[in-house]
Amino acid sequence: MPIVEMAKIWMDGELVDWHDATVHVLTPTLHYGWGVFEGIRAYETDRGPAVFQHRAHMERLHKSARILEMEIPYSADELMAATRELIRVNGPRSCYIRPIAYLGYGQIGLNPLPSPVKVAIAIFPWGTYLGDEGLANGVRAKTSSWVRIGANMIPTQSKCCGVYINSSLAKVEALKAGYDEAILLNEHGNVAEGSGENVFIVKDGVLMTPPLTAGILEGISRKAVMRFAHDLDIQFVETDLLRHDLYLADEAFYSGTAVEVTPIRSVDDREIGAPGPVTKQIQDLFFNVVKGKEPRYESMLDFVYGP
Ligand code: PMP
Repeated sequence: MPIVEMAKIWMDGELVDWHDATVHVLTPTLHYGWGVFEGIRAYETDRGPAVFQHRAHMERLHKSARILEMEIPYSADELMAATRELIRVNGPRSCYIRPIAYLGYGQIGLNPLPSPVKVAIAIFPWGTYLGDEGLANGVRAKTSSWVRIGANMIPTQSKCCGVYINSSLAKVEALKAGYDEAILLNEHGNVAEGSGENVFIVKDGVLMTPPLTAGILEGISRKAVMRFAHDLDIQFVETDLLRHDLYLADEAFYSGTAVEVTPIRSVDDREIGAPGPVTKQIQDLFFNVVKGKEPRYESMLDFVYGP
């Protein structure tokens, strides 16, 4: 997906021109993938742009870094203030937000600890990740031949740069085979997650999703879906799922910042039919919340120009 350029990028406390936001070719993160990042969305509301679950994302960036023994020199509050400023300066009505903490230039070799930790935040307009048609009528998913990396290989609760090779391999495989998105199984053969999203199914009216012990990223949208399900009186359980549970599901969907809540129409060509009623209920509430139309959930939004 080509990037839509904006005027400024935040780098270590400075707002720099878009094309000057560069790093040296010997920055170790480029070579070894030692870095952590976030994906966040700001939505258009009638009070200007609002960042969905802003604090949760910046806190997850810190958690990701902590697992890798990286010390981010800015607090979650400072990073949130930087993002709000960046949105005000660049002026989009809605956008995707990409903070990244990486190792700065100066050291080389596999010990990351002596390297300085640098932080950048970029924002840019970004439409629906799997397309408007996918959002409305569901996407075609493929079980990947790539196994989701295990927590004792690379910690799965750290949203770290290098691990995304695993995700990208699965994504490319799915696309080349004519599907929209992948579903990865874990090393035990249970359903883990999509290449960049969590997976839910509905069976006999019960909403189900794999537990964190399946080696998945704890999605912030996943947590929001769980809260919405509770508030909508939808029965919900975190449980290990096998591949055939996907085939026999009454409904299935992905959740994630990029993908939002996107129905899954089929898995490995087994038609599920989408969007089902539970998916639709959750999807409708999700979009109302992020657009600031549900006062009850307003604490999930950080209004860039104040509440
Ligand atoms: N799993 C993976 C591997 C991801 O990259 C993402 C996107 N961050 C998710 C799940 C969904 O997480 P979130 O809802 O926080 O965007």
